Amino acid sequence: MNDIKPPQKKTWVYYYVMTLLIVMLLNALVFPLFQQDRVQEVDYSRFISMLEEGQIKEVEISEKQIAFTPNDEADKNIYITGRVTGDNDLVGRLLDAGVLFGEVYPKENSPLLNFILTWILPILIFVLLGQLMTRMMQKRMGTNAMTFGKSNAKVYVEAQTGKTFVDVAGQDEAKQALSELVDFLNHPEKYREIGAQMPKGALLVGPPGTGKTLLAKAVAGEAGVPFFSISGSEFVEMFVGMGAARVRDLFKQAQEKAPCIVFIDEIDTIGKKRDNSGMGGNDEREQTLNQLLSEMDGFDGSKGVVILAATNRPETLDKALLRPGRFDRRIPVELPDLAGREAILKVHAKNVKTGEKIDFNAVARATSGASGAELANIVNEAALHAVRDGRSAVVQNDFDEAVETVIAGYQRKGAVISEKEKKIIAYHEIGHALVAARQKNSAPVHKITIVPRTSGALGYTMQVEEGESVLMSREQAFEKIATLTGGRAAEELVFGTCTSGASNDIEQATKIARAMVARLGMSEEFDMMALETVTNQYLGGDTALACSAETAAKVDQKVLELIKQAHAAAAGILKENEAKLHELAGYLLERETITGEEFMEILGRPEPPVPPGEEADQ
Ligand code: ADP
Ligand code: MG
Ligand code: ZN
Repeated sequence: MNDIKPPQKKTWVYYYVMTLLIVMLLNALVFPLFQQDRVQEVDYSRFISMLEEGQIKEVEISEKQIAFTPNDEADKNIYITGRVTGDNDLVGRLLDAGVLFGEVYPKENSPLLNFILTWILPILIFVLLGQLMTRMMQKRMGTNAMTFGKSNAKVYVEAQTGKTFVDVAGQDEAKQALSELVDFLNHPEKYREIGAQMPKGALLVGPPGTGKTLLAKAVAGEAGVPFFSISGSEFVEMFVGMGAARVRDLFKQAQEKAPCIVFIDEIDTIGKKRDNSGMGGNDEREQTLNQLLSEMDGFDGSKGVVILAATNRPETLDKALLRPGRFDRRIPVELPDLAGREAILKVHAKNVKTGEKIDFNAVARATSGASGAELANIVNEAALHAVRDGRSAVVQNDFDEAVETVIAGYQRKGAVISEKEKKIIAYHEIGHALVAARQKNSAPVHKITIVPRTSGALGYTMQVEEGESVLMSREQAFEKIATLTGGRAAEELVFGTCTSGASNDIEQATKIARAMVARLGMSEEFDMMALETVTNQYLGGDTALACSAETAAKVDQKVLELIKQAHAAAAGILKENEAKLHELAGYLLERETITGEEFMEILGRPEPPVPPGEEADQ
């Protein structure tokens, strides 16, 4: 990055050079023009003849030349002529002519003054100019590039962000998680008294435009504390060592202003996993990250400095950042569901003038997969459309038009999903949930959603274990695989085909099956033999094969067998519960997100005969 010159510097040098050039041009061409008609050079004979004819008023003799003014009042010229050394009688002639004359006494500067003028003054001028320029540069770049080590980190401090939780629509879970931080910032003593440690940092994780930055500002607004924000990419800049210095500075400033919020946006730019893959050049980032880690460990959290960070690539973050005492709280900020979208539309519609009552629910239904930022954009598009139509208030039609304009953009991005695909996704997710619910050892379904995630998932079925368990039995592992295959099994059963939607399921199912065979000793054939070892447990947990190629082939065979069994089991469960599958999928399509309770309620309703014994354990 060192070779990127700030553009301001160029313009400065440019102006400087231009001024110099102009002065030089004036000197060389224009000023002599003024003088030309004032000073006339004549030859010596002319001088003598003018002197003899009494036309000269005053003469000034200097070392090399003679300057004289004529008697003629109308002639404003000053004449000069070279001094002829042979003319010894000049003084006599001048006396004869009776003109005023004298010799210019060459002024001798003192040697000290000479020295100052020729040496000190130019240097002084250069130094002053240089200082002026660097100061201008610094002001424009906002960074003190010339003083290493002490950086003026470009920290944006806002005394009041002007945002509160009211400005953030939906995102109730995130708001709830953050409200504890707000309470801590408002009443730190309450926590100090009891000896409770607040988490030092919370990490907002979610796709772009879902309101992570907005939420961070809202926390500061709710607590009424200063908001320091800096973007991760600004840390890594310019000179080596600057990033680390900035982190140090940031924390120093923050601690002086406590209680306050430090917000590091796009933390993945500095918080990437440290590995050996990069060919050098990673040093700067690693230094910055290390500094951040040690600062987070070093400062006293009870003072009331809360660090928030945001990222949309949590999987790339260094594990060290996520350990307790650092960003140990992870707050998901997901794409809004139907109710959330409606709320966001309403919040933003407050800023535009609406003519009639707008059906925001309809707009929200048409924009599944849109983020908060995109919804804000739709409201703005609607207002623009109204202006284009020459109306002074926004009507329903403007919103419909805006959705269409924006959705054309979405479809390219693949975020908004057609009705037909949505149906497939709904069946897929219900397939997972149904298989899970109808098995003995599966965790209960917590939430099912077909709101697409930017992570690539088009929907998901969340299961939450009832208690905390550290062990996984062979049966549990097998049922997990069956649950994962349930999505595809539902597609096959209902649509008689399969889609690419199961790619993630396939990956996960294979991972579990492979672990069962190769690491967990859960296959009869290999008993308790370790066929794979975990190489870097703390950074990712990659595995390496620890067996012969022949055995590896057998492992693959065994893994495939396991998955096939599980797939068949899932297909069987769905076949038995086909009526419920249709009912639930229809309900999910309508709601987009349903809770585990709703799911179990519908599943529990008396309807098609369920084979006895199957339901016992729900
Ligand atoms: P992120 O940081 O997650 O990428 P931002 O917080 O910058 O997203 O959100 C961008 C804009 O989108 C916000 O300024 C706001 O206008 C709008 N927005 C996003 N989510 C919401 C929300 N939940 N409620 C209201 N406005 C939102
Ligand atoms: Mg942001
Ligand atoms: Zn799936």
